[in-house]
Amino acid sequence: MRTPLVAGNWKMHGHLSANADLLTALVSCADLQTKALEVLVCPPSIYLAQAHSLLAASAIQLGAQNFHPQNQGAFTGEIAAPMLQEFGVSYALVGHSERRSLFAEDDTFLLAKCQAALSARITPILCVGESLEEYEKGQGLEVVRAQVTSVVRALNPEEVQSLVIAYEPVWAIGTGLTATPEYAQQVHAEIRDQVAHWSEPSIAQQLRILYGGSVKPENAAALFAMPDVDGALVGGASLDAASFIAICQAA
Ligand code: PGA
Repeated sequence: MRTPLVAGNWKMHGHLSANADLLTALVSCADLQTKALEVLVCPPSIYLAQAHSLLAASAIQLGAQNFHPQNQGAFTGEIAAPMLQEFGVSYALVGHSERRSLFAEDDTFLLAKCQAALSARITPILCVGESLEEYEKGQGLEVVRAQVTSVVRALNPEEVQSLVIAYEPVWAIGTGLTATPEYAQQVHAEIRDQVAHWSEPSIAQQLRILYGGSVKPENAAALFAMPDVDGALVGGASLDAASFIAICQAA
C-alpha cells in the first residue's frame, strides 16, 4: 500500500502574515494529520524557518522548492541540501518544469540534485512532463520516459526506493487545463514500468507517483481514483487553505 502524498508548491508567493494564516489553517485541520495521508508544503526558501516553527507540532511535512547540488562552496545566492536539512526539510522538488525551462536545469544537473538530496536524507520529488508541443505531436510518453530514465538508471535501488516522482504535463501547469484521469493513469503506469525496468519491480510498486497540473478540489477525486495516481503536486490551489484542504481530503 502506498500512502498518498499531497504536496503544495507555493512557488514565489507568500509573505509572513499570509503564510502564518495559511499554515495555521492547515495545522488546525485534523484530516491533514492522519497516518493515512502525507501532507507537504513547499514555501519559498526564505520562509522555511517560519514554516518549520509553525509546523513543529503537526504531522505536516516541510519541503524545499530548490537547492544547489554542491554541499558548500562559492555559489553566491544558492542553498545546499544539508542546510535545508537543518530547517526540518524532508522533501525537495527537483526538475520542476519552471526550473528546467526558465533556469536551464538539464538532466545531468537534476541527477546531481537528486543525489545531493538523498545524501542529506531529503526525499527528492522528481518532476517530469511534456510540453504542449510535445503533447500535440503525441510525444508525451517518450519525453517522460527519457526524463525518468536519465535519473533512475543512474541511482541504485536503495536510492530509487527513496524517490517520489511527479508527473506534471507542462501544458496543464497554471493553465486551468488538467490531464484527464485516464491520460494521467496511462502516463503514471508507464513511469512505473520504466522504474521497474531500471531498478526492481518491487521498488516500482512502492514508488509514489504524484500528478500535478491545475489540480483543484473539483478534479482531485477523479484523479486520485486512478490506481497509479498516488497524490498530487498542487501549485495555485495550495495557496488557498480551503482548496488545499479539500484536495487533501479527496486523497
Ligand atoms: P498548478 O501548478 O497547480 O498551479 O497548475 C502545479 C505545479 O507547478 O507544481
